[in-house]
Amino acid sequence: MEIFEKNLRERRPFLWLNHNWRPAETALSSLPLSGNDISYAENRLERFAGILETLFPELRESRGIIESELLPAPKLAKRLGVPSNSGALFIKADHALPVAGSIKARGGIYAVLYYAEKLAIEEGVLSDENADHLKLLGKPARAIFAERTLSVASTGNLGLSIGVMGAALGFKVTIHMSEEAKEWKKERLRNRGVEVVEHESDYIAAGKAAREQAYGDPLLEFIDDENSRELFLGYAVAISRLKRQFNEAGIQISPNAPLFIYLPCGVDGAPGGITFAARIQFGDDAHCFFAEPVNAPCMTLGLATGKHSDTTIYDYGIELQTDADGLAVSRPSQFVGEMMEPLLSGCYTLTDETMYKHLLSMYESEGIEVEPSAATGCEGPEMLLNTDEGRRYLTEHSLTNKMRNAIHVVWTTGGLFVPKEQHVEFRGVKK
Ligand SMILES: *Cc1c(COP(=O)(O)O)cnc(C)c1O
Repeated sequence: MEIFEKNLRERRPFLWLNHNWRPAETALSSLPLSGNDISYAENRLERFAGILETLFPELRESRGIIESELLPAPKLAKRLGVPSNSGALFIKADHALPVAGSIKARGGIYAVLYYAEKLAIEEGVLSDENADHLKLLGKPARAIFAERTLSVASTGNLGLSIGVMGAALGFKVTIHMSEEAKEWKKERLRNRGVEVVEHESDYIAAGKAAREQAYGDPLLEFIDDENSRELFLGYAVAISRLKRQFNEAGIQISPNAPLFIYLPCGVDGAPGGITFAARIQFGDDAHCFFAEPVNAPCMTLGLATGKHSDTTIYDYGIELQTDADGLAVSRPSQFVGEMMEPLLSGCYTLTDETMYKHLLSMYESEGIEVEPSAATGCEGPEMLLNTDEGRRYLTEHSLTNKMRNAIHVVWTTGGLFVPKEQHVEFRGVKK
């Protein structure tokens, strides 16, 4: 704990191993959600596929399913110094997710669809879940949606996903943006008729303001990123699709071919949902690590102290200062933190400087353009393979001799709609 606190306070990058990790069998039985809940979410997305395809022409080819590619990344592996006897590197390319341009295209959009369906059934537009969902594009449904406001607090991308989806269905949408939200994200939303409220405070404070505004107003639905089951489950659907992509690539995750996933972490809904699903799907062969900026290590802090949302980075003298706007969160989610306790392998922190180095590496080696937050997963293999803590993890889990066939997945989480000139600027930081 002392070394942990010293590293944290001095903002020194480190890998923290989760001492509460448990085998899947015991870990999963104690949780409030299960694989069935993920299946419900997958089925709901299937029911909405026709609508999504109609509203967003870019989804025609995938028939209304929002999904990203799994890309082999041998050149990036070389650049990151991952030796071939330590396994193969892949990129799960959520930076290119259509419609919202980030990982929020899963959770955020799912949360809106969940609410729309529930409301439509309550109001009698749909007789039940199996009715023809295309009715939701008709006049009676739109009239109902137009009376309601969806609201959410965001550092940028969650607002983008909920704003785009909500507006497309005819809801009024109010996005409470924290101070780090990028101007182009606000502009993109305003162009779609979304109301953007700018807060001169961090994400947690913006969330508090939004939550209070919604309190007691039946026509205002606040989607609470810190406590939302729906967001969490929307993110979780990624794993059954990843499994399919592994199958297509002839990859079989097993004790002799372990899976390591490196996930950029903000308030924790997205990486949390993915970790939950990965431990259900791959059991103890899935090893998930969260990446956080040294100046925004809220999840590491919450898990290591066991205090979750009862602690903030400010308690440790850390200022929320990072260019990783998607990860700029001062206090972790209690709901997700408790779920992660037995499931997560560990967390690591990194500097913005290292993050920009990786952003440039991804572009130069694989031609991929991501936003800064999305590059943080690249530090995972280094932390696992080349630190004392990482080697200890491999030893404790009897993995040292099984790395030859390991699969490392760097999860890139945003970037598609970043203006061209900003990408150039991002690369310029480390040029
Ligand atoms: C939101 C976001 C994350 C992290 O998701 P959380 O649910 O906040 O942990 C990571 N990367 C990007 C680009 C994001 O927008």
